Amino acid sequence: MARPHHPSDKIPLQMLEPLSPTCLMCGKAAHIAYHTQRTVTTLTGQHRLHLAVRRCAFPECPRHHQPYRPEAEGAWALPHGEYGLDVIALVGFLRYQRHQSLAEIHQSLRERGLTIGERTVLNLLARYEELVTLHMTDRERLQPLVQKQGSLILAVDGLKPDVGHEVLWVVRDCVSGELLLARPLLSEREADLVTLLKEVQDAFSVPISGVISDGQKSIRNAVATAFPDIPHQLCHFHYLREAAKPVYEADRHAKKELKKQVRGIRPIEREVEQEEREEGIITRKYCLAVRSALTDDGHPPLSAPGLKLYERLSLIAASLERGLKKGAAISTRQTGSAADKGISSDGAVVAGCAGRVYLGTSGCTYLDERRQAFLDRGATTV
Ligand SMILES: [Zn+2]
Repeated sequence: MARPHHPSDKIPLQMLEPLSPTCLMCGKAAHIAYHTQRTVTTLTGQHRLHLAVRRCAFPECPRHHQPYRPEAEGAWALPHGEYGLDVIALVGFLRYQRHQSLAEIHQSLRERGLTIGERTVLNLLARYEELVTLHMTDRERLQPLVQKQGSLILAVDGLKPDVGHEVLWVVRDCVSGELLLARPLLSEREADLVTLLKEVQDAFSVPISGVISDGQKSIRNAVATAFPDIPHQLCHFHYLREAAKPVYEADRHAKKELKKQVRGIRPIEREVEQEEREEGIITRKYCLAVRSALTDDGHPPLSAPGLKLYERLSLIAASLERGLKKGAAISTRQTGSAADKGISSDGAVVAGCAGRVYLGTSGCTYLDERRQAFLDRGATTV
């Protein structure tokens, strides 16, 4: 019996790991110390984040034993937050740009498919307000922390809650995981972004040693203008996601085409529904195998559902082929009636089923060759 699915099995899993395998302070190896998980609800639904956390193992290092969490984690949600930063950005946008009431914001979020209570909306609004006033109140706390750290690695994210409107810019420090600045701007203009980055630089008296972002053009240009000599790296998560897009599209197309080719399964199933003979039973099992191959799923690019379907259909076809070969000892002319005549050879039975399944998958270029070979042998009635 199949293992019952745990509800969280259905939530897409994102694996995140710190970009650098070494300690940013001493340069020595920072091994993965532990893994942890958290679930975040964003505007695109629920996501499970599987996080690898590194630690510096060098006792003399000032950052000895302190955790390095994945840089990309902060782009998803605030520390300990259950809702994504994009949800917080949208709540703020609806309140301050659209002037919606709490009840209206609640309704807007529910219309977008979010299961959320009104009280949580109120909390998210408070988070938004904290975020955008952060640069005024939190700097005193951050200053000594950053000082001790010696440098900053900035992560820049632009959250756009609605098409063509406000962008909530969030600048974080990847080393400490602290939020440095968050500001809603009514544009994605490069010049505004340069001003924002300069403001971060001026606010802290330590050098910026690197910038990480999703690589969108306005950020790329702004970083190049504001910090011409500072390395700018694409976030691995965004990079992989972008690289995966063509793979995802090709795989989706392949799956669609493959599915088209095995549409003939249902009539065969109907035909043998009541059949008690071995051939009927085996045919039903083959049909079931095709059916379960169709419902099997995966998350590209690492587990591509189209490729999986191709592999499973290939296995089924190979099994049918083996059956045909076994049955070849018996005159292929009589293949169809072999079972009728009570010949108990497994091969003959499977050969009969194979013929049936092949013929049933009419229009299937995938199984075409095999079907043709079967027909060529003179087995037209099965
Ligand atoms: Zn270290």
